[in-house]
Amino acid sequence: MFACIGYATESADQPLGPFSFERRDVGPTDVRIEISYCGVCHSDLHTARNEWKNTVYPCLPGHEIVGKVVEVGGEVTKFKLGDLAGVGCMVESCRTCASCQEGLEQYCENGFVGTYNGVEKQTGKVTFGGYSKEIVVDEAFVLRLPENLDLAAVAPLLCAGITTYSPLRHWKVGPGQKVGIVGLGGLGHMGVKLAHAMGAHVVLFTTSPNKVDDAKKLGADEVVISKDPDQMGAHAGSFDFILDCVAAQHDINEYLGLLKRDATLCQVGAPEDPLAVAVFSLIFKRRNFAGSLIGGIAETQEMLDFCGEHGITSEIEIIPIADIETAYSRMLKSDVKYRFVIDMATLKAAA
Ligand SMILES: [Zn+2]
Ligand SMILES: [Zn+2]
Repeated sequence: MFACIGYATESADQPLGPFSFERRDVGPTDVRIEISYCGVCHSDLHTARNEWKNTVYPCLPGHEIVGKVVEVGGEVTKFKLGDLAGVGCMVESCRTCASCQEGLEQYCENGFVGTYNGVEKQTGKVTFGGYSKEIVVDEAFVLRLPENLDLAAVAPLLCAGITTYSPLRHWKVGPGQKVGIVGLGGLGHMGVKLAHAMGAHVVLFTTSPNKVDDAKKLGADEVVISKDPDQMGAHAGSFDFILDCVAAQHDINEYLGLLKRDATLCQVGAPEDPLAVAVFSLIFKRRNFAGSLIGGIAETQEMLDFCGEHGITSEIEIIPIADIETAYSRMLKSDVKYRFVIDMATLKAAA
């Protein structure tokens, strides 16, 4: 084991603060990464505050990790010292179930190991995430990063990017299609950029008229103010696919009615309470209502390569780690364009 520092909390009602702990030594297939930046995801906040009622303390969040390789095990083939490397939401899975065999580790039938708040296979201890100086991960769960992109702005691709990329690919979004993205936040702004780069006609739905200009700059061909029934009605029955990125309670039936026959509305935002579905809207046009969870490792690599080719990164605001609680408060008010990223160089100063 070796000494590491990070930012963690001891209980649901305490702020995150400097924390010292140990990481496992590098095994034969492990990669040790010095973390440069870590994105701030809503899941970090939910977990730190035990809002999903499954948090093990101390809790050290962070699963949008980018950095440099500083040590590799003897059997590592994908990475060498000095390479850029990324880690997303998973650090291990069973590797043997049908989903793992198909490269869909996020749907591992035995449960994937989360980058934080999971159980580390090698030690049996709780996993600690990316709000830290270094991390050790088996190379099978480490991603290669494009060299041509701003590294800090790559970090959110590891969760927000793949969460939107995977459903867009699964439902075969491309040229000639009309695709809706609901909500312009951490997820939605990536959905707009990716769907645009895939060649679709992109329509962004927002409740905020002040987001219209931003959405168009990010790649939306049209912006619809979802509170306006006339604007919504003009698009009835016309969409090939809609990706709903809204985590707050909202009426999804307004969006189901905008789908063509056989088209799909996929939810990646996760409202706490059940959503009411008007079943007639599904029946009469054989429409589909679906969900999607992040993406597998191979698909995450494909997404990063795609972003490298198309020059796509997240829109970010860089913060020092000492400001994490302020960032959480602002995130709850959607007061960020569009993702906070922690500059991990500031950790040394804080600890
Ligand atoms: Zn996340
Ligand atoms: Zn599995």
